[in-house]
Amino acid sequence: ERAGGSRLLEGLNPQQRIAVEYRGQALLIVAGAGSGKTSVLTRRVALLLEQREAWPSQILAITFTNKAAAEMRERVQALVGQAAQGMWISTFHSACVRILRREAEHFGFTKNFTIYDSGDQRALLKRIIKELEADAYGFTPSNTSAKISKLKNELSDVESYSRTINTNDPQELVFLQVFRKYTRALADANAFDFDDLISQTVFLFRAFPHVAAQYQQRFRHILVDEYQDTNHAQYSLIRELTRAPEAGTDQLATTRTEGASLTVVGDSDQSIYAFRGADIRNITEFERDFPGAKVVLLEQNYRSTQNILSAANAVISNNFDRKDKKLWTAVGDGEKIVGFTGYSGHDEAQFIADEIEKLRNAGTAYSDIAVFYRTNAQTRALEEIFIRAALPYRIMGGTKFYERAEIKDALAYLVSVANPADIMALRRILNTPKRGIGPATETALASFAENNGVTFREAMRRADALGLGPKVTSAILQLSALLDEAQAALDDAAAADRPTASATAVGDVLSLLMTKSGYLDSLRNSRDPQDEARAENVDELIAVTKEFAKNNPDGGIVDFLTEVSLVAAADDLDDATGSVSLMTLHTAKGLEYDAVFLTGIEEDLLPHRMSANEPGGPAEERRLFYVGITRARKRLYLSLAMTRAQYGETAVAMPSRYLQEIPAELIEWRQSPGNVNGRGGTQSRALNARRAPSSDRWSVRSLPEGASAGDTRFSGGSSKPETAWANRITAKVRDNGDLELVPGDRISHADFGPGRVNAVTGEGAKRIAHVQFESAGAKKLLIKIAPIEKL
Ligand code: ATP
Ligand code: MG
Repeated sequence: ERAGGSRLLEGLNPQQRIAVEYRGQALLIVAGAGSGKTSVLTRRVALLLEQREAWPSQILAITFTNKAAAEMRERVQALVGQAAQGMWISTFHSACVRILRREAEHFGFTKNFTIYDSGDQRALLKRIIKELEADAYGFTPSNTSAKISKLKNELSDVESYSRTINTNDPQELVFLQVFRKYTRALADANAFDFDDLISQTVFLFRAFPHVAAQYQQRFRHILVDEYQDTNHAQYSLIRELTRAPEAGTDQLATTRTEGASLTVVGDSDQSIYAFRGADIRNITEFERDFPGAKVVLLEQNYRSTQNILSAANAVISNNFDRKDKKLWTAVGDGEKIVGFTGYSGHDEAQFIADEIEKLRNAGTAYSDIAVFYRTNAQTRALEEIFIRAALPYRIMGGTKFYERAEIKDALAYLVSVANPADIMALRRILNTPKRGIGPATETALASFAENNGVTFREAMRRADALGLGPKVTSAILQLSALLDEAQAALDDAAAADRPTASATAVGDVLSLLMTKSGYLDSLRNSRDPQDEARAENVDELIAVTKEFAKNNPDGGIVDFLTEVSLVAAADDLDDATGSVSLMTLHTAKGLEYDAVFLTGIEEDLLPHRMSANEPGGPAEERRLFYVGITRARKRLYLSLAMTRAQYGETAVAMPSRYLQEIPAELIEWRQSPGNVNGRGGTQSRALNARRAPSSDRWSVRSLPEGASAGDTRFSGGSSKPETAWANRITAKVRDNGDLELVPGDRISHADFGPGRVNAVTGEGAKRIAHVQFESAGAKKLLIKIAPIEKL
């Protein structure tokens, strides 16, 4: 059968078809949101398999989350069935873990290494900072982990970094010490942190060309989704893998020595991970890096209505230094975007809950609805209202469960068995539950280990040689014996001839550890009411291991721990269907929903106040807004609040500068930011008419590298639409700062009509009037900005 006849090509538009069928060395598919990039990647894989151009084992497809990987695997399976097995479809991290587990021995690690998540990493750094007294130089676990992460993403290690620093700067020297000690501690613990997974794989390939050659020969087709968000380390990994194996490393004379074919898809307008080192240049310079690369542009959007797309196009066109691409759709205009301004975050949440019920009554399933926010703190108001409204919801960001202390404790027990070198895990369980083993004993064990050249774990086995008190000694020996017992159980299972023995054993061993250590009992017998819930969480984890055993009959303890470590934000744990999804804008990438609520479209939230003054910050935040808008298929809601409780206080919020970039006629304001009577559109229109002519934009295009052009436009010149708009809004919202209200006063509210003031609380800008309205009932109003007049 010829490719032309495959049903896999049905329904594709001409560009998509080219992208699926092209058979050169390098292919770049650049296209806006919802144009079928991920779909094309999937079809490409399926076609390669169907046409028998590749074996499944010769394909490596990289996605951004494990969830996306699972989805792609499913889709390929649906298209070509069993042939999909044996393919590597995974995230960068999972693929690297697989490689490292096989090859770790080449550089002094063993294959049961532990993966440190950001919590583990910070705990270790905290210890090191304390030991080195580095806090005196301003170092904290959070700023050092960020700096180390950045270095690793740039493929710097201690050696290369040490050559770049200014040796007269004590602060740099101290940081170098922290970095060195941290690196050594990881190696001693047979552990990698998250960033290591990528960078160490690159180092491995560079140091051992014959190892690299195996993978270069194996993978004939490499495909990468969301390429705009790859960082330097990931980019280098791809380069290593697509290289032709070096002469002399080719073990089989018959093997081809050509490099793998590479397909990447991406959208530079959706690059939202610059803060993690993602580099847009990876996409813009693809043609230079891979000479002869074919570039395919997709312009038809299959996801959203024209109104939604027009809004997205209008917003993103305010970013400079980008290739203009216009998305269009055959779907039709659809509904207008709905805008809403609440008086507070709760008011906003109430509106959302009400609208969700309306959508649901009109036939949209809860699972087709999503609510996005910029910061996690915004979920509080949403959750409170959703719970009150009995709206089923789930928060995507599955890592939360694994971040709980009791889950970390339970996992530390498993890690102590799987990787006895992991001293962090051992130290965590040493006195958890309480066994009377204090810090002095811990130090004694550590020095015994060092003085006798044995591991910490071995020191525990020999605790009676330490001259400690009998109670402490026996506590250590008991724990040590329990870990040995667990190890023996796992070894038995591995040796057993039953197919699922290893996988089942993980759950059994976890039960054993949690019971015999007394950990579960200590929670169940505690008087702290929270501990009952903690015990339930541990039970839940045991249930997770059973589930794992079912899905991975060949998996062992290390596989289980790997899976747990690699849970990413968009990988929800439970497949709760029938609930509304809540998530951050970052997590939303790649997903789509019938109805989308974008909340908190305010200055300080979007753009986030941390990035508003960073070079390139507001442009990146605009891309985040663009990502959010383009997730919606049919209905899009943009909401904000006039006041927002944040960082422990309630502050007046300003509409986001990005709102006015959407043509007014696309939005139907239910309650507008400028005018609670719903005429806010007028002023936005007026401002749109005053926007800088395109010739102005042109001149800004030639800004020097690094300048954030999108924002320069507003920092100089005569027309400053953003500030002007914001000022007008405040003026409209009014500042009643000097309005003196006392109990008994009668007032009139623009929406609620006449009412009587019962009490006034708070001070200054935060004075709140408690008002009994004649028809609207009791309300609390922030006097400064409420649309009220004294009668
Ligand atoms: P994003 O940039 O958000 O990651 P994307 O470019 O990867 O988007 P997809 O998720 O692949 O886009 O596709 C968006 C939607 O359009 C999906 O629901 C997909 O099934 C649908 N789609 C893609 N191509 C076609 C087509 N040729 N005909 C019909 N529907 C299509
Ligand atoms: Mg996609």
